[in-house]
Amino acid sequence: MNNCFIKLFQLQEFHVEDSKLEGKIMIITVRPKTNGVRCKDCGKYITTVNRYPKPRKVKHMFWQGNLIMLSIKTRAFFCWQCQKKDRRRHITIDRLKSVPPHRNYSLVYADQIMKGLGSTSFKTQQELAESSFATISKLLSERIDPFIGVWPEETIVAIGLDCHSFSGMKMLPTITDLTNHRLISILPDDRRTTVERFLKNIPADKKGKITEVCIDMSRDYFQTITRELPQAKIVVDAFHVIADANRRITELRTAIQKRDKVSLPKRLFDKPKEHLKPNERVSLNEINRAYPELLGLWRFKEELRRIYKIPNNTLAEISFSSMAKRMKLSKHESVKHWLRTLMRWRKEILAYFDNFTTNGYTEGVNTKLKTIKRLSYGFRNIDNYIRKAMLAFLPISLLLSHYLT
Ligand SMILES: [Zn+2]
Repeated sequence: MNNCFIKLFQLQEFHVEDSKLEGKIMIITVRPKTNGVRCKDCGKYITTVNRYPKPRKVKHMFWQGNLIMLSIKTRAFFCWQCQKKDRRRHITIDRLKSVPPHRNYSLVYADQIMKGLGSTSFKTQQELAESSFATISKLLSERIDPFIGVWPEETIVAIGLDCHSFSGMKMLPTITDLTNHRLISILPDDRRTTVERFLKNIPADKKGKITEVCIDMSRDYFQTITRELPQAKIVVDAFHVIADANRRITELRTAIQKRDKVSLPKRLFDKPKEHLKPNERVSLNEINRAYPELLGLWRFKEELRRIYKIPNNTLAEISFSSMAKRMKLSKHESVKHWLRTLMRWRKEILAYFDNFTTNGYTEGVNTKLKTIKRLSYGFRNIDNYIRKAMLAFLPISLLLSHYLT
């Protein structure tokens, strides 16, 4: 059989004996190129064929609308060495690089499905590959384990953790490589033990090099991270700190609205000061004159936003402390309350200024995940969702090398 054929159908491991077309199925009969195998018991290379079992039929490829199946003539070898020792027959059957044991498909077939799954739906793949839903999801689950995640070759210094919602109430943690901008994993639930299990599984060579973990302002995973990645600094995401400030302003604002039956537009308070139009500034000033507590919160939020722009960690620390001092002197309960939170997170807020790490990339992933959920007519099965979503982000080369090593 010519080389071109072997290359096209990726049959480098075999000698091709025959090929025939049965309807839309092409059957290629092959036999392994090797002369023998290593004995599964003693490890010696053995070449004595004991018998030829029934040929193995596996799905190998779908090509131009045809399914290509391999009929592999495997051999059962027999080990003299082992028999001498215990007078039993030691049989080893051909092992193939391109066809996993106990599977009815080859790796080429698996790769084809995987490549397709990143961009099309399960159903399309099913039709293309004439494969059952069960086979495809099994393939997926074999290749992607959210508890291991997919770790790129490159060194990772910072990882990000941020949850996104799945079908209403369920929150799923997204874990990203902030250094190389890659998705590492999506965990099946937001329990602490789940995150812990993931962190424990981080490959040792990667683990030691992670020096930053970016999270939002929640204590949920704080201790788990400190325990599992003791050398890493926790950085609280800048956007979440400001979002938390905005949430506090909103709380106070709506309370005032209810109490005084007035209308205080949200956008005036959420917008960064420098983006306010002249007329908006005027109305904000008026509101703030009437409600000094609201003014207090808003001013400190704007101050914190300015601090976040300082390009130096010492200066940032000085400015933060000075703001904290003034917040402490405030007579407003909401300001004091917020200060307590800020002080609890002081170290993690200031850790931002070492490398200016944020969860911006992680947020971006979460936004893209929303689109994937919408496009894929709703996922009922959380595992399939996770695996397919991960596929959509991963370069296939990475996925395959990860699997094959
Ligand atoms: Zn042996």
